[in-house]
This record gives sequence, C-alpha cells and structure tokens, in this order.
Amino acid sequence: MADKYRRILIKLSGEALMGKNKFGHDINIITQICEDIEAVHDLGYQICIVVGGGNICRGATSQSLGIERASGDYMGMLATVINAIALQSKLESLGVFTRVQSAISMTEIAESYIRRRAIRHMEKGRIVIFAAGVGSPFFTTDTAAALRAAETDCNAILKGTQVDGIYSADPKTDITAKKYANISYKDVIVNDLNVMDTAAITLARDHNIPILIFDIHKKGEILKVLNGTGTYSIVK
Ligand code: UDP
Repeated sequence: MADKYRRILIKLSGEALMGKNKFGHDINIITQICEDIEAVHDLGYQICIVVGGGNICRGATSQSLGIERASGDYMGMLATVINAIALQSKLESLGVFTRVQSAISMTEIAESYIRRRAIRHMEKGRIVIFAAGVGSPFFTTDTAAALRAAETDCNAILKGTQVDGIYSADPKTDITAKKYANISYKDVIVNDLNVMDTAAITLARDHNIPILIFDIHKKGEILKVLNGTGTYSIVK
C-alpha cells in the first residue's frame, strides 16, 4: 500500500453512475466501480466516498423548471442519498462492510453524519459513503468531498471523471487540448479549469490535500492511480 495515501476519499459524480444512459443508473458501470473500490479496500486502504446526484437531479436544472433554487438543491441532495444506497448495496454484495452517513438526518435509512464515528468506521475497515453533500443548498458535492476529506484526515481526494486528467480544453472536442500532469491549486483557480468548484479547490489547498483526477470508467484505474502507474493529473 502506498503509505502516503493510507486514507482516501473517492469522489464519484452522479453522472459516472449512469454510463451511457440519460438518467439514473447503469448497473454494469456501478458494478465495475464497486469492484475497483473493493480491490483497493482489500489492500488495506481506508476509504470514504462522496457521491453526487447529477444523474437524477441538480438544483440548477430544477430552477430552469421553475422550482426555486434552494428547493431544487434539496432535491439534488436527496438524489445523492439514492446513489449512496445504490453504492452501499452493490459494495455489500461484494462482501465489503459499509455505512451511509447523511448530512440531512433520515435515521431510518442512514446514519447522521458524525465525524468521529465516520473515522472509527474507516479504522474498522468499513467504507463510509457520505450522502446529502454538506446538507445545505448552494453547495456542491465537490465541496462536500473536500470538506469531508479535511474533516476525516484523508491523505488524498480521488476524483473519478469521464476523462483521464485535467486538460486546458475539452479533449473530446479540441485536439489541441493540453494535459496537465501536475498543477497547483492556484493555477486551477486562475485558469478557471473545470476540475472542482473553487470552494472545493480552496478547501483542499488550505488543508494540503492532493486531488487526483482520473478516468473512473477504466477498469482497475483506482489502484493504478494509488500506486502511481495509472494515467491521471494531480493538483497539489
Ligand atoms: N447539492 C446541494 N448541496 C450540497 C451538495 C449538493 O445543494 O452540499 C445539490 C445541488 O443542487 C447539486 C445536486 O445536489 O446540483 C447534486 O450534486 P452535484 O451536482 O454536486 O452532483 P454531481 O455533479 O457530482 O453528480
């Protein structure tokens, strides 16, 4: 195990769970992601996950339908709980013990977020899935990822995306797009690169937590990123 990354936070967007579908879940993709997480867990890494909700609902989209932003954001946070339960179910079917902790209390289906309890779960080898973002509207699950990583002393944030790193432009539409292997927090913000929102980058910077960006759909990539053999960009 790479000691410097003993405890990690994996950020999964909701979109990562829907594969080629336009909405909801692709069980093959979810299975692949969970198998990759299980492989890393089996090596002794302590793991927590923050999952987004964009495959079901986003506050900004709800607003365009005439639903006020704060209400739309609460709908988005509930979407993250649905995804957390889906991940929990799949991970446990692979034999990994997990806990879902929600930033919005819903005690029948998830524990409420308690920092020290989350840390204890990880020490005992359970994967903690953080749901409902930070629990407040006008935030994103990227910010929740940086916040939970700082709170629970994670050594790194692994952000799984649809591309294998950070580019100067969208590599799918611009062949001149340049990939950054290493980039500073400041340069991400100054160049307005679409990595995580500014609040998340700032939090990670203030707590000196590196962010590793990689392609979540490449089988086995989480482990490769952790042992330095994968294809990724690092913000530090
Ligand atoms: N959200 C929120 N507060 C939070 C986290 C999320 O209000 O702390 C809402 C927001 O509306 C967001 C939605 O939940 O659009 C889904 O989260 P996000 O867009 O971050 O998910 P992802 O893009 O990672 O799938």
